This record gives sequence, structure tokens and C-alpha cells, in this order.
Amino acid sequence: MLQVTINDRAHEFPAGLTILTALRQVGIDVPTVCHDDRLEPTGACRLCSVEIAGWNRYVTACNTPLANGMSIQTHSPGVEDARRTLLRLLAANYPAEAVREFPEKQFHRYLAQYRVSPLGEVRSVAPDPSHPYIHVDMTQCIICFRCVRICNELQGQFVWKVWDRGDGTRIVPDSGTTLRESSCVACGACVDSCPSGALEDKSIRQLGVAEKWTRTTCSYCGVGCEIMVGTQRNRIVQIRPALDAPVSKGHLCVKGRYAFDFVHAPDRITQPMIRKNGEWKNVRWQDAIGFTADNLARIVTKYGADSVGVLGSARATNEDNYLAQKFARVVLGTNNVDCCARVCHAPSAAALKAMFGTGAATNSFDDIEQTRAFLLCGTNATENHPIVGARIKQTVLRGAKLIVIDPRKIELAQYADVHLQIKPGTNVPLLNAMACVTIEEKLVDESVLNERVSGWDEFREFIRGFAPEKMATVCDVDPKLIREAARLYATTKPAMCFHGLGLTEQRQGTEGVMCLVNLALLTGNFGKPGSGVNPLRGQNNVQGAAHMGCEPGNLTGMLALDEGRTLFEEIWRAPVPDAKGLDLMQMIDAASDGKLKALWAIGYDIALTNPNANATAQSLKSIEFVIVQDMFLNELARECGHVFFPVASSFERDGTFMNSERRIQRVRKVIEAPGEAKADWKIICDLAGAMGKGEFFNFHSPEEIWEEIRSVWKAGHGITYARLEKGGLQWPCPTEDHPGTTVLHTKSFPSGERAPLKRIEFAASGETTSSEFPFLLTTGRTLYQFNAGTMTMRTPNTELRSTDTLDISAEDAARLELSHGERVRVRSRYGEVFTPIRINPAVKPGELFATFHTSEVFLNRLIGPGRDNVVHTPEYKVVAVRIKKLSLVTR
Ligand code: SF4
Repeated sequence: MLQVTINDRAHEFPAGLTILTALRQVGIDVPTVCHDDRLEPTGACRLCSVEIAGWNRYVTACNTPLANGMSIQTHSPGVEDARRTLLRLLAANYPAEAVREFPEKQFHRYLAQYRVSPLGEVRSVAPDPSHPYIHVDMTQCIICFRCVRICNELQGQFVWKVWDRGDGTRIVPDSGTTLRESSCVACGACVDSCPSGALEDKSIRQLGVAEKWTRTTCSYCGVGCEIMVGTQRNRIVQIRPALDAPVSKGHLCVKGRYAFDFVHAPDRITQPMIRKNGEWKNVRWQDAIGFTADNLARIVTKYGADSVGVLGSARATNEDNYLAQKFARVVLGTNNVDCCARVCHAPSAAALKAMFGTGAATNSFDDIEQTRAFLLCGTNATENHPIVGARIKQTVLRGAKLIVIDPRKIELAQYADVHLQIKPGTNVPLLNAMACVTIEEKLVDESVLNERVSGWDEFREFIRGFAPEKMATVCDVDPKLIREAARLYATTKPAMCFHGLGLTEQRQGTEGVMCLVNLALLTGNFGKPGSGVNPLRGQNNVQGAAHMGCEPGNLTGMLALDEGRTLFEEIWRAPVPDAKGLDLMQMIDAASDGKLKALWAIGYDIALTNPNANATAQSLKSIEFVIVQDMFLNELARECGHVFFPVASSFERDGTFMNSERRIQRVRKVIEAPGEAKADWKIICDLAGAMGKGEFFNFHSPEEIWEEIRSVWKAGHGITYARLEKGGLQWPCPTEDHPGTTVLHTKSFPSGERAPLKRIEFAASGETTSSEFPFLLTTGRTLYQFNAGTMTMRTPNTELRSTDTLDISAEDAARLELSHGERVRVRSRYGEVFTPIRINPAVKPGELFATFHTSEVFLNRLIGPGRDNVVHTPEYKVVAVRIKKLSLVTR
């Protein structure tokens, strides 16, 4: 410990702190304007200077290491005078009106504290209001460079540039014109760091500053960033990152930071509704619940319990999803329960469970900075999981190696050591080819193979048939690049895999993930920090929804029905049904066969998001009774709904989410729900009561539900709400004194000492090009929109990305005489859509990429019936299409 005196009082500190950190630890505040804990300290503004006995100059506290024996004065007259002088210089041309407008800004507080008056009265530079979220007023710039540094060091976007030197120094966006025209991705980091208000959120200029701040978890993607939500009279006015959040580390993306206006959208449904003669009519809750209970009881009596299906929601909390599956099993008596994990990462869960024994990410996001090489397979992380993408990018900029497997030149491909730009649908032969190189070139980890892996001899024989030179034409990749990627992954340790839907939404999705696990097993890249196989889950709580038991074959905790039956029946005091349940895709099939008579879709617009949308719509329309539970009248409700339950958003309820790295985090109520909208769990309890099963749903709060969850879920037993108040916890966490688990499989696997290598043959997709359908189309998200667009399309994100688009190479566009922005007709074997094109060099000739967020385009009409051959996840990523200029369409 270091012995240090501060302002004449003795203190002890551990070694390794800066003076500033030590001062903050003992509650002493010194001013800083260039400092931000998220950045490397520079000491540039010198405001944090302190006096140290025996030193002949003042030293900057932010970047001076604390040393034993230091005697520090933080507010001596000399230091305070120096600070006042520095502030006067900064305020010489500063507009006084800015201080009056936002007195709480960091720089403005210092001016008041040191009684320094800004001398500029009028703004000398016109503000730039071009951006939908960020107001730019460089008259207020005090050249602290925080915006420049945070954009470079945290986001890695390099938007802000320093022009000129000395008195002429200016900070400008890389467009040289407006922020809107720059390469800004609207993460808001520069705004969050700006101490003066030169960069400011438009929302607080329009709505006023927050009166109250509440910490909660982002409701968009599965990264699980924690946010601080600022409110004023039941209105969200601003969202900022939680600075100490373990995942996001004081950073957010455009969705988490800015896309919150959907909560206050005028078309929120705030009262329950029943459809009569085709018209939706507002009704009282008791009528909606009674009507639903009567219909469900009638259908169960007439057709049997297995004629009803329930879909949990990746947008809802763990507690909501736990009750949804309990309702299906205990109230209805069916295992027909599923959630949208079916259409995204069910293959990951199945493959990881089959090979490692646990169907979830093996490692943590904090491993990103510890790895030396990344293998990214089918994940466009900077757009789909932006905070993880930014952390990967920063780690690569600091020297880690990067292999990208993706049909497109995604942003991270620009930073890659090797980009394997594969033909869609060929992940299995490519990953097998990498395994072949690993073995052929003797790059395997012998000791790991000997001690922790089974099936080696058979696998070695099998994989010989996948030499890169043989697979190159199948995958459309140079075999030298396959060899280079395999060497890089096998020899740069630890190496970490992340994968996304580009791997899973394929006919061989589950087997593709198994091939990735094979690589990790062969090279020993598992069971230690900075390694492993890690699915990037799409929606905030998709991992949780499935894990809570919204799967036909599994109870809570991924416990197979037969494994968990005794425990659950004991705790529920009700039988768990025997009959095998239907998954989502099987429910659609059953509807089409006339066997599914009722469906309850909680927060899940399957009409818009399911593949083969025309056929799906026909099936859904044949269901006798459809209950839709959502914030908005979605496509499913519009087309097929009979009763509508309006729900509270994640800002309007309490509970927990589970992120991609198995972390349970609190969701906290920030504002009251509008009108009569209710949390999902309350609706489920009410309906259970109306169906005579209220005794099994006697819950009064999400915490009470959580207590039951942890009684049935061994790996989550140690996670309590009280513990979550101090921060999220990663399961397995079996006891209340267990710290949670950051890395799985360090010594053994749940299934035993060894994990098996799997021999996976390639089975080509049925979606092949022909003279009639010459293009291969893949689909995905854009940074600015989210899934069905339910939330983001009701925010100013539409100004940043207003419509779905079809990306095409310049060569193909020229050949078809298409120009950027032109609308085209796209036709597959299953349907057609009309969409504007973007000429994009990221796409190879002969291939296309489209986003799927809007009902106007309804892209899923193009997607075929192909499914993963193990868990039925649809083949969204491969579809053969043709395109036609609208002027040539005769129909
Ligand atoms: Fe929210 Fe995901 Fe963006 Fe984080 S990365 S702010 S969790 S959308």
C-alpha cells in the first residue's frame, strides 16, 4: 500500500492508481475538461493540476501516477489561481447564452464555481442542426479533443477531425460539411463526453433536461448494454450509457442511445381490443380476458390441448417468458411453446449443447480484449451488435488478428487479415477445409486432443476429403486464403470465435456451428479466457426466452422434459404434459393442416418475420383464434388477430434480461405504461386466473416469479434480485456466494471429461441459381433498424435509414441498367417484392443483400421453406432470385 497525504490528511492506496483516481476514491473533486475515464489521460487542459510538496511545478492529476510518500494539495491558492486563469482563457470567446441555457454542463459548472464569466455574447459559428439526434454548435467548442478521441478510441469511427493549429484550431466532421453528411454512426459517444455542449442531444433541447435518472438494460440487441434513462414527468428525454456497465463500458449504439421515441408513439395500443365483424373495438380488460379464456377453454375441450400454441417473446423479460411456458404446460396442458430463438440461434444452442454440453456462449465479452485472434463467422458485428463490434475493432486496431467469413465485405472485413468471402450456404465445407488444414499441417493442440476430445481417429480420416483445393470451388474462395485463415486461427492463441445468423440461418445451421466447435476443439481454443465459441444473440432476451423454457422440448434451464419432469411437477404441483410439443415452424405446418386451432403470440410478429411469408399468411389465417400481445397493431394482428392485449414496454416494467454471454441483468421501470397497457406477466396471471388455474400463478411481482425460477433452475439458483442490484451475474451461478461464471468448460464439460469431434458432411442448399433465378440473395439487419421495425421505425432512425434496400454490385447494376436508389422487382420461387437498390461494392457480382425491416417491402415473401435439418431454423440466408427494372415489368 502507498502512504499518501492529501490536504494534510494521511491516506493509504493500492499501487497502480493515478493521482486523480486516488482523489476520487477519497471524495475529492478537482476540475477536468479534457479527461474522460473512458479515454487514455493526456493532461492537456491542465485544470486538474495539483501541488505536490517538494516538486517545483504543478502536475496534472489525471496522468501522473500516485507514488508513496506524496504530499498533495488539491486546492491551494496557487493551484486555484492557475485554474481560474485557464478557465478565463477557455471562456474568452465562449457564448454566455450557452451557459444560461444549460448551467448543469460540466464546463459551465466550473465557470460558475470559479466565478469566471464567458465573454462571448453571440454565436460566431452557425450551429449545424443537420443530424436527427445531435445538435452541433462549435461556438461552444473549447478544443478539449474529447469528441475526437472518444470517436477514435471507443467507437473507432474516426469522424471528428482537427483542422488547423493554434488559435485557428477547429474540430470538424470528416465530411468537411455537416455531421449528417459525415461517416458518423450516431453512437453519441462524442455528445456524452463533450463537457461544454458544443455537441448536444437534440432531445434535451426539445424536451428539456432530465429530472430523474433510472438505470436499466437496453431493449434492443443481445449485447446487453446498460443505460441510464433520463425522464421528465413520465417522458423519456434522454438516454446515456451507464459508465460502469460491464458489457458496454460507458458506450452505446444509435439504437440504445437514441431510438426510444417508440415508447411515446401516438399509435401505441393502450387498451385491450376484440375484433368484431372485422373491426377492432376497445374493451375492458376483464372482457378481453374473459373472451380469451372462454375461447381457449372451448378449443381445448373440442380439439385437445395440443391444438393450441404459445409463443414467448425475446423482447419480454425472463419472468414473462417463464410464465408463458408455465401457462402452456400447466393451464393449457401442452408443450406447444416456442419463441423466436427458433428462427435465429436455436442451431447454436443445439450444437453447443451437443458438443460442449451447455447450449450457450462459452466465454464473455470481457474476453475480447484478452484474445489475440478473432474468427468471425456470419456476423456483421459493427451493425448488428455494435458495442461488441466496436470492442472487436479496437482490439484489432491494437494488434489482434482477424479472420472474417462472410459473403459480403462487411465493415470489419476492411480490418481483417483474411477475409473469406464465401458463397452463401457453404459454411460447412469451408470450416471443414480449415479443420483439414489444421490437421494436415499439424497445427492441432495435441495435449488438448489427448485429454479433452473424443472421436479423433474417425474425424482425422473423415476430414481428409475436405482439402481447401477441393472445397475452393464449392465455397468460391481462394484455397490459399483458407489455409492462411486456418493457420492464423490455430497458431495465434488464444483465438475467439463469434458467429451470427449468417452461420445459423442455413439448412446446415446446427451443423455449421458444430464445425466451428470442431475447430475450437482441434486447436484447444476453449476453456480459457479469450477463446471459445460465442453466438451473438440477436434480440435483447432471446437467450433468456428460450432458456426460461419457451421451447417445446425443454423446461427452464434447457432441461429436457424427461430430465426435469419430476422436479418441475414437485415445485409446480401440477403435471408436465407428456406429448411432444410443436416448435414454431411445426405450429405453422399444423395450422396449414388444420390442426392448430389457437395461437397466443406474445411480442412476436410472426406474420412479418417468418419466412415464406405468403404461405405463412395462409396458414395463420386458418387459425380459429389468434391472441396478439404487443405494443402496436402489428401485421399478425392486422391480418389474423381476434383479441389484442396491449403491453408495457421494457421501460415500463421490472424484471430481468439474459444477454448473449449468459449475464442476467435487471430491467427497471422507468416510466408508467400508457393507458391500460400491462406487463406481460400480469396478463398471463390474469388469464390463468380466468381459466381456473390462478393458484399456480399467484405472483405479485417479477421478483416473486424470479424466486420460483431460481428454485427450478440449478445453474441460476445463486442469482437473486438483491445481488443483481449490485450488477449482472453470469450463470452458472449455483449458490448465493458464487461469483458467476465467465468462462465455461475450463476443466471438464457438463457431459463429462471429453467433448466429441463431429463429422459433418456437406449437404448443399436446395436454393440454387438457374437462368430463371440467377442471383443468390442473403438478408440481414442494418445498424439503424431493428428486426420487424416495430420500435426503430417509430423513431428518427428513419431519417438515417428510411427504407429496406437491396444491395447489388456495380457490375450487375450496370449490366441491368439500374441506378442507385431505383426501385426494382425481386422475385423468388415463393413470392415477389419491390424495393429500392443500393449499389454497394460490399456485394459480389451474382449475389445480393437485402434488409427486412418494413412491411412495405415485406422481404420475407421471398424466403423459401428451407429449414435447418436439426432444429428447423429457416434458411433466411440463401434464396435464389431474379430482379427486374420496374419499367420492364409487364407482369
Ligand atoms: Fe443496445 Fe445492442 Fe446497441 Fe448495446 S449494442 S446499445 S444492447 S442495441
